[in-house]
Amino acid sequence: TRQPVDRWVKSYCPYCGVGCGLLVGLHQGRVVKVKGDPDHPSNQGDICAKPVYLPPVLQTPDRLCHPQMRAHRGEEFRRVSWDTALEHVARRLEQILAEHGPDAIGFYGSGQFTTEDYYLANKFVKGFLGTNNFDANSRLCMASAVAGYVRGLGADGPPTCYEDIQHADCFFLIGTNMADCHPVLYQKIRRRKAEDPDRVRVMVVDPRRTRTASIADLHLPIRPGSDVALLNGMLHVLLEAGRVDPDFIARYTRDFHQVAAAVQAYPPDRAAALCGIEPELLVEAAMAFGQAQAVLSFWSMGMNQSTQGVAKNSALLNLHLATGQIARPGAGPFSLTGQPNAMGGREAGGLAHLLPGYRQVTDPQHRAEVAAHWGIPVERLSPRPGYSALELFEAAAAGKVKALWIMCSNPAASMPNLAQVDEALRRAELVVVQDAYHPTDTSRYAHVLLPAAQWPEKEGVMTNSERRLTYLPAITPPPGEALPDWQIIARLAHKMGFAQSFTYASAAEVFAEFVALTRGRPCDYAGVSHERLQREGPLQWPCPAADHPGSPRLYTGRVFPTGDGRACFQPAVHQEIHEQPDDEYPLVLNTGRLKDQWHTMTRTGKVPQLLKEAPEPFLEIHPTDAARWQLQDGRPVAIISRRGRAVAVARVTDDVRPGTCFMPFHWGRLLSPHGAANDLTSAARDPISRQPELKACAVRVQPM
Ligand code: SF4
Repeated sequence: TRQPVDRWVKSYCPYCGVGCGLLVGLHQGRVVKVKGDPDHPSNQGDICAKPVYLPPVLQTPDRLCHPQMRAHRGEEFRRVSWDTALEHVARRLEQILAEHGPDAIGFYGSGQFTTEDYYLANKFVKGFLGTNNFDANSRLCMASAVAGYVRGLGADGPPTCYEDIQHADCFFLIGTNMADCHPVLYQKIRRRKAEDPDRVRVMVVDPRRTRTASIADLHLPIRPGSDVALLNGMLHVLLEAGRVDPDFIARYTRDFHQVAAAVQAYPPDRAAALCGIEPELLVEAAMAFGQAQAVLSFWSMGMNQSTQGVAKNSALLNLHLATGQIARPGAGPFSLTGQPNAMGGREAGGLAHLLPGYRQVTDPQHRAEVAAHWGIPVERLSPRPGYSALELFEAAAAGKVKALWIMCSNPAASMPNLAQVDEALRRAELVVVQDAYHPTDTSRYAHVLLPAAQWPEKEGVMTNSERRLTYLPAITPPPGEALPDWQIIARLAHKMGFAQSFTYASAAEVFAEFVALTRGRPCDYAGVSHERLQREGPLQWPCPAADHPGSPRLYTGRVFPTGDGRACFQPAVHQEIHEQPDDEYPLVLNTGRLKDQWHTMTRTGKVPQLLKEAPEPFLEIHPTDAARWQLQDGRPVAIISRRGRAVAVARVTDDVRPGTCFMPFHWGRLLSPHGAANDLTSAARDPISRQPELKACAVRVQPM
């Protein structure tokens, strides 16, 4: 827009977990421009293209502006009042509770929630409905990293910060295409490398030669799923070369002997063979890691979305602990959160096994603390973890979960094995979809549609990948009758007779109630309030007191929250991906994101400038494989797995390994009616984190 800006307001990017500060330009109260906030410590004014194009997608014709209902799918929705919609939902939930018990109800939330939304939804579901069936799309994103941190370091939360990029001389990027998925952070690494090209080394581990690999000194194109073999092989090399840190191991860790024994099975020849790379490459990577002053490792979905997700995370933490590359400037493991507030969601207890303040539902002491804070009998809190994301939809498909409430997410496009998600949504007796847009792939199944406010129509707090809390103001009013998610939950709680515990004058009050539950916990931010964030700007937790400046790094005293203060080595054993290629399905399909798109494209898919690079779904395939199956560059290809079929345009490139192919997952069936990437993917999951293996399934291809 060319309209002049008459006022700039500070905000926060609603897209990825880098969590950039934004300046929002208003003209007569309308958002007309977005640019980077030079004062935000996480991005210093840098942003990528996605938020620049937010203004045109805030008021599109498909904004959901009023509550709507229908008795049966196939009928038209009719507009109703908030009172009618919530009264209906409250009575239906009460019926289901009476007939089937609380575990017949399930909620599915989102890393796009504010912390206030997350906290209140959790309080309502876990404390007042009496079920732990609240999970979120963060399960598809970070659950393996969470489990890895908890097992190895004693608590969730990356110990590192963006400033570490300036102190590191070795970057180990594994299973992450930062150039496309965390662009602002990638630019920081690119600049660091350009400043000191001879000393700074960048290693990229990825089956694809991505844009990220373009700055790599070393690209290790390993076979899909062979990360544990690589990491164990590297530790084997470092042990042999005497490049570990015996003093750090002895003083600050335990159980090293188990890992030292386990990696004996990964000499470089065997490890490299498992990875499908030359042994020299593995040895070179290990020595670069072992010789660096400060190694900063970044990873995201390539490590986490795997049936070995937790083992991969453990193997990487083992490398950092064995070399003492942790808990000092420039060194450490750094998981990259996908979504803007997936971190805040974990802090607020937004997964089916968690309670607020990084507490566990299985811990009696934790339940007692939370119950006392909520003023409920402790028996109201179930000690059983609820259904995780995939299990929730499987239970609905099996008829065990009768009511599904989906907020701020589009699982009918983003979950693996969409046929099963369809079955779940069809079979559920009550589907409530709370969203800013309609229709979406998911809202098509709804009985009740509840209009939610979105960025920048609601205030709240979000935590980015470096544990930094930013306050987002409500800058414009929501359209029609849309409400912030936490207010919708509070209104429903009133309808169900819990008014006393859900009366809040503001989001600041909700936040203050939650913050009190973080006191004394690893994610302590008892010293943070809306007012302080507005006054001082973003802060990093731990921040336990009002005069505490916040903490860029964790564990700098080398005491870990494990009970005895020592970090814990966790042996990891290589296993192949769940669905091996065979004669019928000979290729391994990898799925991922694109630089200019966000998740299921509800906003970014409406912006022509963001569609330029990829206007339609595509399949990257190696020339050898393309020739074998008679595929031509630029021509349509059908991709078929054991679960379904998708259509894309072939891009023939040697950026992918022979025997593998890559497809972005952004296009759901609403945008790609002949089949989407997640029609193909498998719901096989890590046994500990319950995170699905969205990065590898077996497919075959044929020209169309
Ligand atoms: Fe937003 Fe991420 Fe881009 Fe920053 S890098 S502007 S947080 S999408």
